[in-house]
Amino acid sequence: MNFTKFPRRGYLQGETPIEPMKNLSKALGGKVNLYVKRDDLLPGASGGNKTRKLDFCIADAIEKGADTIITCGAIQSNHCRLTASWAAKEGLECHLVLEERVKGSYKEDGSGNNFLFELLGVKTKRVVEGGSNMMAEMEKTAAELKAAGKKPYIVPGGASNAIGALGYAACAEEMMNQLNTMGLTIDHVVVPSGSAGTHAGMVVGMVGTNAGIPVHGIDVSKPAADQEPGVYKLAEETAELLGVKGGIERDAVKCYGEYVGPGYSLPSDAMVEAVKLFAAEEAILLDPVYTGKVAAGLIDLVRKGAFAEGSNVLFLHTGGSPALYAYLDTFR
Ligand SMILES: *Cc1c(COP(=O)(O)O)cnc(C)c1O
Repeated sequence: MNFTKFPRRGYLQGETPIEPMKNLSKALGGKVNLYVKRDDLLPGASGGNKTRKLDFCIADAIEKGADTIITCGAIQSNHCRLTASWAAKEGLECHLVLEERVKGSYKEDGSGNNFLFELLGVKTKRVVEGGSNMMAEMEKTAAELKAAGKKPYIVPGGASNAIGALGYAACAEEMMNQLNTMGLTIDHVVVPSGSAGTHAGMVVGMVGTNAGIPVHGIDVSKPAADQEPGVYKLAEETAELLGVKGGIERDAVKCYGEYVGPGYSLPSDAMVEAVKLFAAEEAILLDPVYTGKVAAGLIDLVRKGAFAEGSNVLFLHTGGSPALYAYLDTFR
């Protein structure tokens, strides 16, 4: 894969670690060997997966002459936190449109990421009702800023367009190079599937590196039948942009919808168990909205024997721990 034709800001500062999770593997019966790729340790305030995508998206914005970034997310959005973080570093203004997906859940003085938006110098936050057309809302903000003489650039939700998904195609390549150096064979990769850039990019990267490792996407908001077509479409667009030959096979995109629980960002018992288990066994902090549910899926698949005995399974940790502090009641 050739990423040199795309502008990039160089936010990564090297590879994120791949670590064995021996204690957790043992706690789950010792039949599979679990590994974790620590994208929670990526640079950008409090780390997380959006840094890989923003490395490409913010570069595109700067190349197009933008002085202002507009993006959107849920009220505890890690994506909004990292966009604000990189905008601050680059000297760009950042404006957020926040979707109140759970009615009444927005608090002006909220904790977690919502507090960090403030600290990172976000210029404006506008909260809109759940189900709003977020692109249309961001375009409204863009029109106002243009009228005020600014040069705004819209980063879509989760930075999940083909440009952003390049970040995870590049992550797949980084991971394969690490595995080659370590002499470690991975049989399955488990990733989150939300706004889909992570999942789609990883699928493209697996094809582009000829890795042949199946990618399991754990949904955090939708049933599999609703999630898979969107992931597949974005994977095709990303493969086309990157020039990955032969395209993407439809069955390379596999989603599991049964770990969403009561809904996006709403706690489930399995999520709480997963967060507690990762912290106690591996000293790894997950989050209640994304990685806690993905880990719940991983744990259930291991317990059900979905991975053959002796398999090496890699969990992609995409970050999100600041949201823990907005969910204290759930864990205590
Ligand atoms: C955004 C996010 C995800 C989901 O990634 P997508 O590319 O949106 O599917 C997973 N984990 C965390 C912590 C996130 O912030």
